[in-house]
Amino acid sequence: MDKNNFSRDQYARSLKRLEDIFRDISHSADEVSKWRCPYKNVQDRCTAKFGCRNQDRNVPIDELYVCIGSDDIDYRPAWQV
Ligand code: SF4
Repeated sequence: MDKNNFSRDQYARSLKRLEDIFRDISHSADEVSKWRCPYKNVQDRCTAKFGCRNQDRNVPIDELYVCIGSDDIDYRPAWQV
């Protein structure tokens, strides 16, 4: 195997590895989005740019609303779009 083929093989393996990593990330995101609203950040604040009945708006003006939705029930019917 010459140097160029080796590099091509390494490149192909790297691409395959990246593809596997992103596939795993995508699968995990799909699974989590089935029970956790994708607009809820890690601090349980709402990042949505639309109304939702689960938004606690009793926060200082420069803060994101608090999400009071339960992760045990479907969040989508609360959206007001
Ligand atoms: S308030 Fe509604 S839109 Fe915002 S994170 Fe919670 S469930 Fe999602």
